[in-house]
Amino acid sequence: MLKRTHTCGQLRLEDAGKKVTLAGWAHSYRDHGNLVFIDLLDKFGLTQLVFNPVTHPQVHKLAKTIRCEWVIAAKGLIRPRSEGMENPKLPTGQIELAVEQLEILNISKTPPFEIDSAEKTSEELRLANRYIDLRRPQMQAKLRVRHRVAKIVRDYFDRFGFLEIETPFLAKSTPEGARDFLVPSRLHKDCFYALPQSPQLFKQILMIGGVDKYFQIVRCFRDEDPRADRQAEFTQIDVEMSFVDSNDVIGVHENLIAKIWKQIMNVDVRAPMRRLSYKEAMADYGTDRPDLRFDMKLKEISDIAKKSTFNVFTSVVEKGGVVKGLCAPGKKYSRSDIEKALTGFVADYGAKGLAWAKVKKENGDLSLAGGVAKFFSPDLQKQIIKRFKAEDGGMILLVADSERVANKALAPLRCKLAKDMSLYDENRFEFVWIVDFPLFEWNEDEKRYDSLHHPFTAPVQEDLDKLVTDPAGVRSQAYDIVVNGSEIGGGSIRIHDPKIQQKVFDLLNISNEQAQKQFGFFLKALEYGAPPHGGIAIGLDRLIMLLTGTDNIRDVIAFPKTQRGQCLLTDAPSEVDARQLEELNLRTQRHLRAIEQKNNEQKQ
Ligand code: ASP
Repeated sequence: MLKRTHTCGQLRLEDAGKKVTLAGWAHSYRDHGNLVFIDLLDKFGLTQLVFNPVTHPQVHKLAKTIRCEWVIAAKGLIRPRSEGMENPKLPTGQIELAVEQLEILNISKTPPFEIDSAEKTSEELRLANRYIDLRRPQMQAKLRVRHRVAKIVRDYFDRFGFLEIETPFLAKSTPEGARDFLVPSRLHKDCFYALPQSPQLFKQILMIGGVDKYFQIVRCFRDEDPRADRQAEFTQIDVEMSFVDSNDVIGVHENLIAKIWKQIMNVDVRAPMRRLSYKEAMADYGTDRPDLRFDMKLKEISDIAKKSTFNVFTSVVEKGGVVKGLCAPGKKYSRSDIEKALTGFVADYGAKGLAWAKVKKENGDLSLAGGVAKFFSPDLQKQIIKRFKAEDGGMILLVADSERVANKALAPLRCKLAKDMSLYDENRFEFVWIVDFPLFEWNEDEKRYDSLHHPFTAPVQEDLDKLVTDPAGVRSQAYDIVVNGSEIGGGSIRIHDPKIQQKVFDLLNISNEQAQKQFGFFLKALEYGAPPHGGIAIGLDRLIMLLTGTDNIRDVIAFPKTQRGQCLLTDAPSEVDARQLEELNLRTQRHLRAIEQKNNEQKQ
């Protein structure tokens, strides 16, 4: 067998004259009558092979039988391409391999789609034939970035004395707020493992176990309802540190992020990064994942709106709601745009309407015109213009509703307008830490508090008394890192005092019995000298998406699942043998029906 001496991405003009052997996949085939050209592809690149019928007739004849995706090895002389035939877009575009010896290492069926037109192929077809899809240079590049990021992460943490420690997959349920994937135990009939939603409790126990600093690039499993940017199994860079406060954890990760961005994208990320309190983020951007590449802050004008003659506004404010909105610069939207497209857009987020008014300048004075302007006296109009710092031609858009609905509608509206008006540079990265989250949020349906992060998040020290007097007012020592409007990670300083942990469980309505059953092992561990500790988890898939500029999470995972949780390559999940179920002491509906049918047949 011909063994390769070089890769398909390696050879340059200065290699002309060398005798080499290359191996790879026949990517494209061109028969120019006398000469045959084959582009040979491997993960390193692409090199042009040329077959000459005069100098090597046998080899040329064999080359004519080759089809796309056949695996071949070719030996010959590297030479400069003839004038005018160079391809400046290709690193190997100055040379070609004049083949003297050819070996077909394997043939291939006609692939179900052409590699070069994969982008236009249905994603299902690509996923079902992932081995073909992965040959694409774009996919190889993403795999490479993922590998490099993992390497940077490992080297970085290693240098600072963190240990990478594996935690179990066959575990007990961990409370990250999603549904667990369960694995039945054969040896313990009727008992189940849960695949970890994160290694949260194990990493905290590692701190109690004196490990001091831990990290792990780890798979997490959450059986959530399908969403475009989620996978049921995804990867986190999971970290926990002892004897630290939130600034320590934040600092370590700012530097890590800066390092990754520099090494992968050659982009300088400013550290320290900006920080915004949850309260500020919600007030100014309507979300705890603000996109800070552009300004266009939200403003509440309830105090002004309640003095207007517009019933909708006054009654909403009276009932405790808000009038809140933004001022979009420029004149891009017409009245009908606003009334149709934008109103429809906010309606999808639950807003009942979108009020508007344009800012105009007359005789040097700014005032409002159109829409709801007529309900505001000139003085109130001035107050609104001042609040929004609006300028001539600006368009004020307002939602009157509960604060929750107004924020829910305005946050995406702000992003949509900015995108439509090209208010920012798509290639910029604006990082921000969101801090001072509330510890709890009220769950109206179940009439109890929920943790905003998870139940092991520590309250801010000076809010401890409020755990009894005003739980909703307690801030947590949690932090999320957000870039360009998407959350890439989050963590917190943890509760290390079992008494506070107990108090938090009480507020979450987790009974003693339930707590003992679910996390008894952990509560016990907390009683044996838990050091102060905290950590974070950063979503690796999300990170790679940002670094490779894709908004499809499946593009950054070698073997992803569809939105419906299926692996189209292996056809998982699938039914299993009745015998396997019996061993597990399990019966599926299908299984039960079959047993019933058999019984009936026997009776007859
Ligand atoms: N376990 C958390 C998560 O998976 C992260 C953390 O608090 O460290 O989101």
